[in-house]
Amino acid sequence: MELKKITSFTINHLLLEPGIYVSRIDHFGDTAITTFDLRMTAPNREPVMNTAEMHTIEHLGATFLRNDPDFGSKIVYFGPMGCRTGFYLLLAGEYTSAEIVPLITSMFEFIRDFEGEIPGACARDCGNYQDQNLEMAHWLANRFLTNTLSCIDEKHLIYPD
Ligand SMILES: [Zn+2]
Repeated sequence: MELKKITSFTINHLLLEPGIYVSRIDHFGDTAITTFDLRMTAPNREPVMNTAEMHTIEHLGATFLRNDPDFGSKIVYFGPMGCRTGFYLLLAGEYTSAEIVPLITSMFEFIRDFEGEIPGACARDCGNYQDQNLEMAHWLANRFLTNTLSCIDEKHLIYPD
């Protein structure tokens, strides 16, 4: 069987910079699902994130998103990319990246400032609960806010063709 290259592998990672990109919009009957790539490091040119801090961002990010009064009911999925350069966010509905900049900015401010017990980080609620790094999650959130989200432009919101 010849396997088709899936869309996300056709993006030129050599030129990609951190940003918020729509990677695809799928339709299931009447429902559309928008998949966003939240790219936090430059692929193959910067060190990737370690799993512990990604795990912390996943727990805090998912908790924040699902509690958001406007978007909470639209969150289909939030989780890490296997390449450890960023996260996937799936939303019910059709959206542009520009429309979720405020949501993503608030989420990373929440992560940057979060203190205390990480939600879900206990043996009952998580499959590897001790693998967390809140300090590095703070640092990465701050870097993404400062270097990318605070000054985001079209080039970092839309994948090149
Ligand atoms: Zn976990």
